[in-house]
Amino acid sequence: MFWKGPLFTEKGFVDTCINLETCEFVDSDKEEDGILVPLFRNCHSHLGDTEARSSVPPNITLAELVGPDGWKHEWLKNNNIEKSILQGLKEATYSGTGLIMDFREGGKEGLDAFEAHDYLGTSILFGRPLGDESLPGKHAGISSLTDVGSLAPKLSEQARKREGLVGIHHSENKREDIEPLIELNPDFVVHMCHATDEDLLALKEANISIVVCPRSNDYFGNRPPLEKIIELGLDLGFGTDNGMICSVNILDEIRFIKENFPSINLHKILEIACFGLSDMFNKDGTSRYFNPKLSGWALLSREAIDNYESIFNPDTKVLGARWRN
Ligand SMILES: [Zn+2]
Repeated sequence: MFWKGPLFTEKGFVDTCINLETCEFVDSDKEEDGILVPLFRNCHSHLGDTEARSSVPPNITLAELVGPDGWKHEWLKNNNIEKSILQGLKEATYSGTGLIMDFREGGKEGLDAFEAHDYLGTSILFGRPLGDESLPGKHAGISSLTDVGSLAPKLSEQARKREGLVGIHHSENKREDIEPLIELNPDFVVHMCHATDEDLLALKEANISIVVCPRSNDYFGNRPPLEKIIELGLDLGFGTDNGMICSVNILDEIRFIKENFPSINLHKILEIACFGLSDMFNKDGTSRYFNPKLSGWALLSREAIDNYESIFNPDTKVLGARWRN
């Protein structure tokens, strides 16, 4: 079977035809099947609370909802997390997502609840210990320096010993000091809504990547300085954050970004959606994520003559995905 159509690359669209069996690009005079994009990268999610979406209380503050003793953690205690994660994975799968970087609450059990499923793409799970136990798994997903304080360096150290990645939320609802974050030296930081230009420059200087989740931020009345992050040339990825607030669908995220950050061009938005965090993944020079040719592809329906307008059109459907691991 073959898919023919314009393929999105970092340099723009190139007409191509992919042999789905061998993943080779071939010449073909068949008709166009749609528009091809490398599978999307969801660089920050919490799939465990996906099934809470219909029951989130209205007008609740960020701290009341996701804080250490908040509504979400109570919900996680009383519901089937494995089932909730499956719901999130289905959304990710049907929306052509090839990479999920999920912050897993609930210690080792939280990791197991994800690993019980066979996800067709690649998942990177960021563990969080229960109480004062040590880091479960390889990668550390730290809630924030304000929440965990002196535990953060310990978790980071444990992840480093296991050659894992370290991610942390920062400056989501209000500005937090940048110095302790730079000292912690995580691979990436999530949110940075209230970062100053100096904070962003300090991250760039320290080679720390950023993941932004604009729909989730908007829900709580926050807005990441996306234009500035791009202008400064920081390594950047998009995430969908809590499944109970936003769909696990990067197409929904980038349509929101198009509407709410109109000065950012569509090529740039799509580039981040498909190749986000490339610098971080390529730190060791071997990551397959760095090379878009080694990613799988999603086939999208054509809804407009212009390729970009078509992809961002709300009627665009994911017609299929060629997974590649
Ligand atoms: Zn988060």
